[in-house]
Amino acid sequence: MTANHRFHPTVLREYDIRGVIGKTLGPDDARAIGQGFGTLVVRAGGTRVAIGYDGRLSSPELEQACVEGLMSTGLEVIRIGLGPTPMLYFTVRHLELDAGVMITGSHNPPDYNGFKMMLGKGPVYGEQIQEIGRLVHGQDLATGAGSSRKLDVSEDYINRLAADYDGTRDLTIVWDAGNGAVGHVLRRLTDKLPGKHILLFEEVDGNFPNHHPDPTVPENLEDLIHAVHTHKADIGIGFDGDGDRIGAVDEHGDIIWGDQLLAIYAADVLKTHPGATIIADVKSSQTLYDDIAKNGGKPLMWKTGHSLLKAKMAETGSPLAGEMSGHIFFADKYYGFDDAPYCGVRLAGLVSREGSLAKLKSVLPPVFNTPEIRFQVDEERKFKAVEEIVARAKALAGKGIEVNDIDGVRVKTEDGWWLLRASNTQDVLVARAEAFSEAGLERLKGSIRDQLSQSGIQAPEGF
Ligand SMILES: [Zn+2]
Repeated sequence: MTANHRFHPTVLREYDIRGVIGKTLGPDDARAIGQGFGTLVVRAGGTRVAIGYDGRLSSPELEQACVEGLMSTGLEVIRIGLGPTPMLYFTVRHLELDAGVMITGSHNPPDYNGFKMMLGKGPVYGEQIQEIGRLVHGQDLATGAGSSRKLDVSEDYINRLAADYDGTRDLTIVWDAGNGAVGHVLRRLTDKLPGKHILLFEEVDGNFPNHHPDPTVPENLEDLIHAVHTHKADIGIGFDGDGDRIGAVDEHGDIIWGDQLLAIYAADVLKTHPGATIIADVKSSQTLYDDIAKNGGKPLMWKTGHSLLKAKMAETGSPLAGEMSGHIFFADKYYGFDDAPYCGVRLAGLVSREGSLAKLKSVLPPVFNTPEIRFQVDEERKFKAVEEIVARAKALAGKGIEVNDIDGVRVKTEDGWWLLRASNTQDVLVARAEAFSEAGLERLKGSIRDQLSQSGIQAPEGF
């Protein structure tokens, strides 16, 4: 086994393990991750772990090495093979296993790859990821005679997804797998649903030859929008590379953003969970929070990061949570993890019952907003600058101004709100603003510019 293995310093991150193949991440790292994570599982009393991988070219090799590492700690390893990340989460919950590892580069460029892990029912992140590094670097590893076997869970998974379709009227739906791992299950899933289904780029291909598998970027939705027009479809649904994020377009080809989608799901879920807490991240629209409250729910604003939202959801017993990025979590009727094909089935049922997606979206008041703007600020400076801005904003609070500092600083004014937060994973600050009028948006952007300049930071283009 790998003696004194060292991870590249950029690889062990806040929410996952990620690197560039051949540069910062390779099979030796995968084996070491298997050893380190396996040790965490064994010491938590676990004996059985599932492992799966996405459609990237480097994934099978990393999986093989990681299995060896996991087995060396004495674990029984269940290898589910190629599929989306939520199929791995499903396996852990459905078979009541102790842990899971997914080899995936999610939406990143083809030469990236990485690891998402769960221990028990929860995500592995933050301090636990650092612990894996310490166990490996210190060679403080469990050893034992493990075993591995292959298991095809895809039919059980697909049946579980299809079971929650609750539509009443047949729809025409375009599904864009973007050559990502969802393509492995999409055809069999749509064959089980009523209505007409058009599938785009369902062949799993780690080179992503058609468009990049990230449905939060409008240019990646162009093919989907085009197909919705061509087929006069009711909905278009897109996925990221590993199927834990969803994107959607309505029957007019207009994009429904993650927070709008969450508002639409929330209105439906609150009918059967009156008064429930619905969680969204700090980047989400105020109109989402207002709509949840209007429908009798308790809106809760929380930190951005799928692991953090999942953990908060379990803590509060919330039936539904989501973020701008398209990670949406259903605990209502489901397990509470981010499963984009499942979200697609729920959206299809909802639109079928309620009429049209454009109509469902139209209850949200129109707003003027910026996209999420990310700009480089030195690692050293970024958190300090946000602290300074929080302090200055708090000094103004009360005069028609509300300040939330759960994750960065989000300031609500009569015009709308603006946000500045430091990324946990890159040396960037993220800015966003949303107003009820164009003039209001200009004033909010002015506030961001002003705050940045007071902290000696040049405002990004567009501000
Ligand atoms: Zn993903």
